[in-house]
Amino acid sequence: SVKVRFCPSPTGTPHVGMVRTALFNWAYAKRTGGKFVFRIEDTDAARDSEESFGQVVEALKWLGLDWDEGIEVGGDNGPYRQSQRGEIYADVIEKLKAGGHIYESFSTNEEVEARHKAAGRDPKLGYDGFDRDLTDEQKAAFRAEGREPVWRVRMPDEDITFTDLVRGDITFKAGTVPDFVVVRSGGQPLYTLVNPVDDALMGITHVLRGEDILSSTPRQIALYEHLKAIGIAEATPEFGHLPYVMGEGNKKLSKRDPESNLFLHRENGFIPEGLINYLALLGWSIGPDRDVFSVKEFTEAFDIHDVLPNPARFDVKKATAINADHIRLLEPGVFRDRLVPYLQAAEVLPESPTDAQLVILDRAAPLVQTRMKLLGEAPDLLAFLFTSDADLVMAEDGLKTLKDSAPEVLAASIEVLEGLDEWTTAKLEEVLSAKLVDEMEIKPRLAYGPLRVAVSGRKVSPPLFESMEILGKDSSLTRLKALAA
Ligand code: GLU
Repeated sequence: SVKVRFCPSPTGTPHVGMVRTALFNWAYAKRTGGKFVFRIEDTDAARDSEESFGQVVEALKWLGLDWDEGIEVGGDNGPYRQSQRGEIYADVIEKLKAGGHIYESFSTNEEVEARHKAAGRDPKLGYDGFDRDLTDEQKAAFRAEGREPVWRVRMPDEDITFTDLVRGDITFKAGTVPDFVVVRSGGQPLYTLVNPVDDALMGITHVLRGEDILSSTPRQIALYEHLKAIGIAEATPEFGHLPYVMGEGNKKLSKRDPESNLFLHRENGFIPEGLINYLALLGWSIGPDRDVFSVKEFTEAFDIHDVLPNPARFDVKKATAINADHIRLLEPGVFRDRLVPYLQAAEVLPESPTDAQLVILDRAAPLVQTRMKLLGEAPDLLAFLFTSDADLVMAEDGLKTLKDSAPEVLAASIEVLEGLDEWTTAKLEEVLSAKLVDEMEIKPRLAYGPLRVAVSGRKVSPPLFESMEILGKDSSLTRLKALAA
């Protein structure tokens, strides 16, 4: 059965390319009834950080990408952080050495380049296999010079061909991939070793990862033969390389581009449902002319064989439109609850909202659910309902919309509303339109614009009469009078 893995290096903040990789692995496990392993490649002490590690975990949890084995949940093949697997690697390295699967290499880069030059080859061709068959005397002589060897894997003399699950048959010609280092001179194992060793020991069947790592795949396949020989691996996994994610101007999206920052999207108000939907479209599609689908529909339909190899473009505008669709699809109660942290972050709501505030939110949420693309729009749209009349701030863009007729509109409105007892949306609409539109013959936009500005302080707000109903008679009138004054 299928077993896939996500094994990020904890550097920087989670970015969309990395999350797309996690998503496709997770979805493939779900689709096939397989297992999803989450482990961490934290062997680069200079670049890795605990903060990044915590952020990756948080990102998967926020998106709801649960895993069957690995970080926090444990399993039979732990530990799941490379930094804690030193003894396992040391043991594998001993076996590789004992079986003659890796060899000592003493050449410096300068020596390799010099040999290429002398032979009329491109000096940057990479390691030339010089140390493959050193005699014990030669090795001893190098050691006597104080040299410490690295350990390399000998690439086979045949082409390496494999069928990439995304890109089809790929061949690396014999002689084009140099023998590669798996152990540094200090004894430290490298990514080229520990990544396949972990895959092998964890029984990974499908390696789905970014295209940027494609060049390491022939090495990994070569190493697997040795891991099989020493009983560490049973079979070579299948590989699928996911297409690059491009940003503005068709440039590869870089970790540093703001639109690649997952938490920035969360802060702006993407919901997991919307973001997962959009990320799923980066290289895959559910069908022609269909962009919006649920997580469940995605996992039921996803197949790695349907991923396209061409670069995918990350289009924030399209992502935002899809997010808006998913906001609309939320259960009203769920939508309301999702607004709370955004309102708290903007200090529209306190950390522990009062019952009265929650009642207002409950009534106001349905008014904005179909109007929002991002949850981050909530504070601007709703703050006026949680602000005292005295603290309401008139936004400049709202005041600018006021026309010469505004004073008479406000005065007439105050007059009819003072006598109104049944303070409901329907009644407010009825009396105000009778007075302002029918009797005074003012166009609706000019009639209601000043009221909207008075009540909300803004040019754009949730529907006016509903808002006034929620505010109540006293507060509404106080605000109308304040602007009229
Ligand atoms: N730690 C590697 C990365 O984050 C994982 C590569 C792989 O999936 O094999 O790029």
